[in-house]
Amino acid sequence: MATQTRYTGLIERYRDRLPVAANTRLISLCEGRTPLIQLQNIPRLIGKDVDIYVKFEGLNPTGSFKDRGMTMAVTKAVEAGSQAIICASTGNTSASAAAYAVRAGIKAFVLIPDGKIALGKLAQTLMYGAQIIQINGNFDAGMQLVKQVADHAPVTIVNSINPFRIDGQKTAAFEIVDELGDAPDYHCLPVGNAGNITAYWKGYTEYATDSATHKAVTQKLPIMCGYQASGAAPFVQGKMIENPETVATAIRIGSPQSWDFAWNAQKESKGWFDACTDTEILHAQKMLSQYEGIFCEPASATSLAGLLKDLASGKIPEGSRIVCTLTGNGIKDADIAIAQCKDSHPVTIDASLDAVKKAILDSL
Ligand SMILES: *Cc1c(COP(=O)(O)O)cnc(C)c1O
Repeated sequence: MATQTRYTGLIERYRDRLPVAANTRLISLCEGRTPLIQLQNIPRLIGKDVDIYVKFEGLNPTGSFKDRGMTMAVTKAVEAGSQAIICASTGNTSASAAAYAVRAGIKAFVLIPDGKIALGKLAQTLMYGAQIIQINGNFDAGMQLVKQVADHAPVTIVNSINPFRIDGQKTAAFEIVDELGDAPDYHCLPVGNAGNITAYWKGYTEYATDSATHKAVTQKLPIMCGYQASGAAPFVQGKMIENPETVATAIRIGSPQSWDFAWNAQKESKGWFDACTDTEILHAQKMLSQYEGIFCEPASATSLAGLLKDLASGKIPEGSRIVCTLTGNGIKDADIAIAQCKDSHPVTIDASLDAVKKAILDSL
């Protein structure tokens, strides 16, 4: 029988490019190795000859890309002897931190904005048993408090200001290059706190160097396209935003922590930032579901929403190979999905063969 190595997570897979020692205890839930799905119907529908792939990060263990960063951040926190982790979150970071804390046997504290987090994310965080602290304030206020309290209490911050988060998340770029054989021409991402665009750029640039010989290898670098929600678009406005608002709660952030890193990614890659309205975001989310069978959360669809605009204007030309990161799973935000489909209510009928037959024939 052929021997196969069991997949045990992204740290093990990319060990030579991550800061872990041979005897480090790895805290993992087998995150990573997410599918890179080529869109089949949307390019035809918009009449563009382009290769669009989506990196579906919603299929990570807790349903978002945050798991890539969290396996590294919690591994390193445990290695350093930490007994507790803390984060501010719009939802997904808290779910991820809570799960990896359980796995490690340490405590997780999460600060979330009262009432502004998707129900599925709250449910996850509750189930994993994290200590939830709801604040009367938004993500940015929570982030400030987390940074302050970490100086006064024995807790490790696991937001993306923790450099190990970025190191874990950069592996998504490695996976894409491994699968496509090269980097794409364009990489589109939703941008909130801007840790992920920072991580992808770090991943692509590091992968262009051989890890053993430190020599350059032939690999192109993508143009990085960062898309924000119009009501929460500090990178587009060029300044921090006081009261960010958007239906895409995962990117409802006015003061991105990775501000300088993200600008660097934009400049070095010759990319850009742009904004999409909530309507455009929700439309892209629905397109992915209804034409491709891919259900991501609203924030995630911002990458496709931005791409569609830049394809329509010709800024991204035909013939391009493009990757969009779909950051989280649509199931997390059932309320928004159901609200979006209010015109397609299920029909209720008698439980009889005749009634079912009629219901089918009526809608064929
Ligand atoms: C965290 C998150 C983002 C934003 O990522 P940043 O690294 O903060 O820019 C986007 N979408 C989803 C679903 C997220 O959970």
